[in-house]
Amino acid sequence: MPSWSCGTPHGEISFECAVVSGSLRPALIYYRQRILDAGMIIRTCSQCGRVFFAPDSRSNLCSERCRKASKKAARKSFDNKSKEEEYEQAYKREYMFWYNRIKKLEKNRAPQEQIQRAKAAFRQFRKEAGQRKKQIQNGALSTTQFMNWMIGQEPVIQEICGE
Ligand SMILES: [Zn+2]
Repeated sequence: MPSWSCGTPHGEISFECAVVSGSLRPALIYYRQRILDAGMIIRTCSQCGRVFFAPDSRSNLCSERCRKASKKAARKSFDNKSKEEEYEQAYKREYMFWYNRIKKLEKNRAPQEQIQRAKAAFRQFRKEAGQRKKQIQNGALSTTQFMNWMIGQEPVIQEICGE
């Protein structure tokens, strides 16, 4: 096989290139052996999806650039997660604020009309909260704005309950 030297996509290791005609299979077998000889294995980069030669099976990032990008993505996903936890917890607190009042109306055998009005208002609250949570996810609303909105809704149920 005629050969010359050429680099890997990242220029870290030099390999031979071969020109083949017809089937690619002999070339693939040839290369696989050359890579094994060099103590390398073929991996797919988990960040950019490129196939690269790795020194061991633990490597799943092809370059320093992808290592940095992967770290950054992990940090971003962590930040988003804690942000999500923050507004979900605030929502759960407000949910219980409404829920407990409706349970109390039922326990006290309040008029059906009052209970139904409270339940309808609670449904509306949940629906609007769901829409606002989507707005937080796409960046149109901040967690603080969402919390302020929820607190602003408290008088709705308080009024129905006659508080
Ligand atoms: Zn990569």
